[in-house]
Amino acid sequence: MPPGPGARSLETPLLTEDLRRGVREVCSRFPDEYWRDLDAGRRYPEEFAAAMTEAGYLGALIPEEYGGMGLGLSAGCVILGEVNRSGANAGPAHAQMYTMGTLLRHGSEAQKRECLPKIAKGELRLQAFAVTEPEAGTDTTSIRTTATREGDDYVVEGRKIYISRVKQSDLMILLARTTPLEEVEKRSSGLSVFLVDLKEAEGLTVKPRRVMMNNATSELIFEGMQLPAGNIIGEEGEGFRYIIDGMNAERILIAAECVGDGRWFVEKATERAGAREVFGRRIGENQGVQFPIARAYANVEAASLMVEKAASLFDRGEPCGAEANLAKLLAADASWEAANVAVQTFGGYGFDAEYDVERKFRETRLYQVAPISTNLILSYVAEHVLGLPRSF
Ligand SMILES: Cc1cc2nc3c(=O)[nH]c(=O)nc-3n(C[C@H](O)[C@H](O)[C@H](O)COP(=O)(O)OP(=O)(O)OC[C@H]3O[C@@H](n4cnc5c(N)ncnc54)[C@H](O)[C@@H]3O)c2cc1C
Repeated sequence: MPPGPGARSLETPLLTEDLRRGVREVCSRFPDEYWRDLDAGRRYPEEFAAAMTEAGYLGALIPEEYGGMGLGLSAGCVILGEVNRSGANAGPAHAQMYTMGTLLRHGSEAQKRECLPKIAKGELRLQAFAVTEPEAGTDTTSIRTTATREGDDYVVEGRKIYISRVKQSDLMILLARTTPLEEVEKRSSGLSVFLVDLKEAEGLTVKPRRVMMNNATSELIFEGMQLPAGNIIGEEGEGFRYIIDGMNAERILIAAECVGDGRWFVEKATERAGAREVFGRRIGENQGVQFPIARAYANVEAASLMVEKAASLFDRGEPCGAEANLAKLLAADASWEAANVAVQTFGGYGFDAEYDVERKFRETRLYQVAPISTNLILSYVAEHVLGLPRSF
């Protein structure tokens, strides 16, 4: 059931190094100027996504029988970490990896045979995952988007907000309520997951929202959008469990990106501190400049160990909820600390688009908030790991 138990292991250092080298080679064809231009024009990295697909990396976690590489989550972490470490933004790659996981783990054989080989070849993009709503926010079981069965279809009504890459995807995973909240025993029951063919969708309005970084994000308005009943993933009413189930993978993958970002910031700051001369000496000769970089380095490397631990547990099919959450928390904090240190080390140049630090600073800031905010992880750790009383 890759990603997860059964996926090809990446325990051998040789395989890891090969993978790392291969990803670096693809990334080297997309220098800083490429990402800077995309950022300025708020464009999707079409060329990068095509190159990553062609090299097989976007389908890395798809099993070999469906045309992918059949690698595990540890491999996904190496890929995404290297992408972000190169100065790029792995958004399209990570979305495809964890969004595809929902289909892979819970989709019917027919759905998998229909979609996965095309996703692996790059003929179909599944990079949109619609959960968040304006009213419910972090409280996912309060979502109000409904999917009501009418004959052979479900009819969808409601709104979603900040949904990434809808205009750049062919398919989208949608979470909607199929049984009203008042009629279920547990709030988490009565939610279902659907595969939406975005090219066919009628009754769906997509309104782009400009956000801090180059992440195509939209508001979605569903007004009687019809979905064939066969587009449900897994069983009706079990959708919340499927979404939760994918969250460990998502958190670990994004934590790996944060480590990649952190390493990029530390490398840039170190380079700058060693080269920039002020008061007749290199700024890096001052411990006031050195120490924050050294501390950021220590925190990024420590976070990286937790990411490796979480990914390795995941790949062995062992419980990893605590480690996945800790990895995301520590890595997001470490990358954000490293981002601040890089801006400080660059001084005014840290704010200048030509030096790329400000772009990466904006990009890594997201991970304090999405896909899960730092507070919610702390709450998970307090309640589920430490056994403290439930607070909400
Ligand atoms: C660029 C971008 C891309 C995104 N892409 C997607 C996507 O593709 N798909 C998708 O479904 N969503 C996406 N999101 C949405 C994102 O997952 C949410 O914004 C995020 O989960 C937080 O929800 P919210 O914005 O409603 O914040 P709120 O729920 O309004 O929370 C606001 C703040 O309050 C804190 N808070 C809330 N409740 C508590 C509590 N009980 N205790 C302590 N603190 C609390 C939160 O930690 C947060 O910091 C994206 C968001 C952005 C900005």
